[in-house]
Amino acid sequence: MQEEQNTELLADHYKKIISLLGEDAEREGLLDTPQRVAKAMQFLTKGYCESPEEILQKALFKEDYRQMVIVKDIDFYSLCEHHMLPFWGKAHVAYIPNGHITGLSKIARVVDVYARRLQVQERMTLQIKACIQKTLNPLGVMVVIEAQHMCMQMRGVEKQNSTTTTSDFTGVFNQAKTREEFINLIR
Ligand SMILES: [Zn+2]
Repeated sequence: MQEEQNTELLADHYKKIISLLGEDAEREGLLDTPQRVAKAMQFLTKGYCESPEEILQKALFKEDYRQMVIVKDIDFYSLCEHHMLPFWGKAHVAYIPNGHITGLSKIARVVDVYARRLQVQERMTLQIKACIQKTLNPLGVMVVIEAQHMCMQMRGVEKQNSTTTTSDFTGVFNQAKTREEFINLIR
């Protein structure tokens, strides 16, 4: 299987990386580490093999409800593409249906699929918004993401408690009042 072959190839590379970092890759405690890291990284980037649009398309339901649907506090874990270090936090999604709704758990899955890739928070926000707009065609969609970045906290500037917030929206969320309603409901 391709994935298992890739695990072996990745493990070979990680063994070299461990040596290059100054460690003894043959040390007992590290013997299985390359294999474990390879599998962990494959898990953390498994979003490349999944289609978020397909997830939503398979769970579209006709419905006349035209008020705001909010899924808040969706936990996610991602890897920043600049350092391949974790960034993690919460995503909040709102949309106003225009004839179709989707399963609430599907929104969380869409967040997860985009998070399980090498990412920047800004693009992840935009991709979630674009995916929901394209597949559900709602009157509007808004995404807010709050995250902490290991690459800021562990290295360089070492700002321990800073949070980065990004947001993006379409349609009726262009009206400040609609955005406010969403923001008030997630606070
Ligand atoms: Zn980074």
